[in-house]
Amino acid sequence: MSCDHIRHNLDGIRGRVSQAVTRRAQTSGAPEKEVRLAAASKTQSQEMIVEAYRCGQRVFAENYIQELCTKAVDPLIVTACPEIQWRLIGHIQTNKINQLLRVDRLTAIETIDSQKLAQSLEKALSQRQRTIDAMVQINSGEEDVKTGCHFSEALALVRLIRAECPHLRLTGLMTVGRFGHDWTTGPNPDFLAFVECHRNICESLAVGVDALELSFGMTADFEEAIALGSDEVRVGTALFGERKHPIGLQDYTNPPYLQTIDDKSLETAK
Ligand SMILES: *Cc1c(COP(=O)(O)O)cnc(C)c1O
Repeated sequence: MSCDHIRHNLDGIRGRVSQAVTRRAQTSGAPEKEVRLAAASKTQSQEMIVEAYRCGQRVFAENYIQELCTKAVDPLIVTACPEIQWRLIGHIQTNKINQLLRVDRLTAIETIDSQKLAQSLEKALSQRQRTIDAMVQINSGEEDVKTGCHFSEALALVRLIRAECPHLRLTGLMTVGRFGHDWTTGPNPDFLAFVECHRNICESLAVGVDALELSFGMTADFEEAIALGSDEVRVGTALFGERKHPIGLQDYTNPPYLQTIDDKSLETAK
């Protein structure tokens, strides 16, 4: 897919998001609540990212720390996208935290799924005197993927972050959900369980449901996700086209496609 298609795709997605937002407000009678569109740019080239940025997209989400770090210092992106906001939506290995936090324009980490990870991030952030938005990732049904905490662990993790991690600004909960759900049979049960978990957590914390965002919905289901209450959809394929290197959501420590990205040294680029 060439860059020309990106404006067309982005316009189409924005239109569908805003229609879904309007429909949701009409159905619930609640005021319209904006939805953030995060461009899931894993495996996509610098040129594609720059093109989407030129079309007004500011929020980009990456899965792999190595790839994010490489893109974050890419001269093309640095020059053309001064206001880019990166979000991490892939699994974090503790030994990559320092590398991750070198990304200046990293605004959020959506994949905190253990107390140990939260504590390690807190320590590294406080050393850098840096505060960042954070989401707790819940595994709502992904079978082969081990990332995301269990529903039963989510409240304790949320509490720990709020109480003991002042450099993590807890903004919400994130999930992926099982693939290939047939929506003609009704809403995805993973999404329903996730929304219920969110409601329970807000209740336990004695905060309104708007106090914590929900990040769910991808190319296949972002409109359904918005109908169910999503505040952020993460869309890749519908925006950029099929990924050149189709990969699952598993964490590959060294994903094969990374070798196609110019791997410059982060230190010399700084
Ligand atoms: C790749 C990815 C997306 C986007 O998936 P598409 O189906 O291409 O829109 C969203 N969330 C996560 C966590 C991803 O890894």
